[in-house]
Amino acid sequence: MPNKKKRPHRRPNLAPARKTTLASQWMRYGGYSFLVAALLLVSLFLFLRPRGPRYGEPWKEFSGDKAFRHVQSLVALGPRPPESEASKKARAYIREQLEATGWQVIDQPFAAQTPRGTTQFVNVIARRPDQPANQKLFFVGSHYDTKTFDSIRFVGANDGGSSSGALLELGRVLDQHPQLAARIELIFFDGEEAYQRFSRTDGLYGSRFFAEKARKAKRVPFYEGGIVWDMIGDRDLTITLPPDSPAKLAQGIFAAADALQVREHFTYLNDDILDDHTPFNEVGIPTIDLIDFDYPPWHTAGDTMDKLSAESLQIVGTVTLYFLAERAFQ
Ligand SMILES: [Zn+2]
Repeated sequence: MPNKKKRPHRRPNLAPARKTTLASQWMRYGGYSFLVAALLLVSLFLFLRPRGPRYGEPWKEFSGDKAFRHVQSLVALGPRPPESEASKKARAYIREQLEATGWQVIDQPFAAQTPRGTTQFVNVIARRPDQPANQKLFFVGSHYDTKTFDSIRFVGANDGGSSSGALLELGRVLDQHPQLAARIELIFFDGEEAYQRFSRTDGLYGSRFFAEKARKAKRVPFYEGGIVWDMIGDRDLTITLPPDSPAKLAQGIFAAADALQVREHFTYLNDDILDDHTPFNEVGIPTIDLIDFDYPPWHTAGDTMDKLSAESLQIVGTVTLYFLAERAFQ
């Protein structure tokens, strides 16, 4: 027998009849359409905004003056070739500054054969303690060694000093932007300079060791890419990108320079440059070299602080931060 639905007894409604007010009328009609319109606007905004994470505007906080003062401190240590006492002091200074701004600092020591025999080198790597395991990283690198000379006193204000001082200022700014900082690694390479002549076996000791270690440890896929800074402090700043710069990175850097209205300081060099970006590109980590190779005091005793300006450091620092925040992870 099919169930017969029982009809419930109607209960008398004991609640007092609700008064129709102007407000409830509005909520019923005007309010709903208002809500619908607002929801539509929000979804339109979410749809239209650029994809990828947002990291604020860190480039507005980079101080060329602060970077300049770090360069002064490093140069004041004197020539800083590998294995020297001054090189050790430079490392201590770098570590102290980075730890004060929340970075975990790791020494990466290694030995390599050089034209002067077995030499001890130390790369310095800085990471955030909360580096995510599932997101790709970008690195920014600089060599902190100065070229070994027997005949001149070479302090490398621009060559070794400028990029390393600016990288410490980059570390300070990133500390204010933890989400972006978590995806950045700062690397201070030792032994960029050749003892005799740049070749497969002389020069780029630090970057060759780092890139090779990353390849062997299968860490290459963890990197989205990298930026190397070298000689970025010349008063007369022209960043001369090597012709073999990865196209996407070069476009991103030019776009950043455009947005910050400093595009006239960036161009291409006619010749290839062998620098710390080379070993990374060889293992498959796309890396661009921001280098000003148009620098007359290069590898002379005249590479001193008076050739540099805070403004130049500011330009490269802001363009790099703009790139990292707006383009690197899009
Ligand atoms: Zn050099």
